[in-house]
Amino acid sequence: MTKQKPFIKYIDISNFFPESQVVISDYICTLCNGVYNQPYMDSCGHVFCNACLETQMENSSGKCPINNQIIIRDKICPINFLTQIIAKQSITCVNKDKGCDWSGKFLELEDHLGYDCKKHFIKCKHEKCTKMVLREDHESHELSCEYKPEKCEYCNIEIPKIEMIIHLDDICPNILVECPQKCDEMIERCKLNYHNTVECENILNNCHYKIYGCEDKFFKKEMNKHLEINHEKHNLLLLSFFNNFQIGFLDRLSKLETSFKNYSDKIVNIEKQLKGKNGFEMLKHKRERERDHKNEFD
Ligand SMILES: [Zn+2]
Ligand SMILES: [Zn+2]
Ligand SMILES: [Zn+2]
Ligand SMILES: [Zn+2]
Ligand SMILES: [Zn+2]
Ligand SMILES: [Zn+2]
Ligand SMILES: [Zn+2]
Repeated sequence: MTKQKPFIKYIDISNFFPESQVVISDYICTLCNGVYNQPYMDSCGHVFCNACLETQMENSSGKCPINNQIIIRDKICPINFLTQIIAKQSITCVNKDKGCDWSGKFLELEDHLGYDCKKHFIKCKHEKCTKMVLREDHESHELSCEYKPEKCEYCNIEIPKIEMIIHLDDICPNILVECPQKCDEMIERCKLNYHNTVECENILNNCHYKIYGCEDKFFKKEMNKHLEINHEKHNLLLLSFFNNFQIGFLDRLSKLETSFKNYSDKIVNIEKQLKGKNGFEMLKHKRERERDHKNEFD
């Protein structure tokens, strides 16, 4: 069995054997009125249980409960010899009233409560369950605990018993659910989206001729009927679509032709200009050569 560390907040001196009570009668914490549990000394010399001192400092802006001075955290220290004296004292179980007849050294009490004491309250092992149950009732509680994990028969994931209904109603990805469009099919929840948008016979579909202008919507199973009834309408839509397309196309073509003509006129002009310029240059060049030739013979 795993140990749940018992945090003994308060140890009444009456739990100790009479001869031990004599030894530790002065070792009483003024904060909890119990015997010092892990005694610590504050910065002004007062002794408290470790946990009592921590709580005091958190709740009182760090002031000593005896003289109201600020406690200097760095100066707090454990009083080990006192811890050892108390550890050796004989004590009965803190759950004696509930029927535990254990007794031993104070040192051993923590382990007794942590592992053995049948009359000690421990937390249910199921994480989300906050119930504290007697160790002796632990097993039977765990069996009936509403947080006991159960395997979902549809998705095989372990779910606390108490959350199973919500899991099945709203979450489980593999449970079969009714089609929201009431098409009589049962669909796995995780595939519902696909069913709703693609598969379902009862979703409203757009007509195949939507891009040609048919705005009708109808159930998948009515598609053939729609196509049959609207044969002529679809043909007219197609015709008008292609007419418009043709008009647009011809218009564009004539614009292209015009701009093509403009460009080719421009090219002819440029060519002419270039030829004229080149002809002039060649003539000039020829004359210069003829002149040079003549000069050689002069
Ligand atoms: Zn205390
Ligand atoms: Zn003090
Ligand atoms: Zn006990
Ligand atoms: Zn439980
Ligand atoms: Zn499930
Ligand atoms: Zn459906
Ligand atoms: Zn249509």
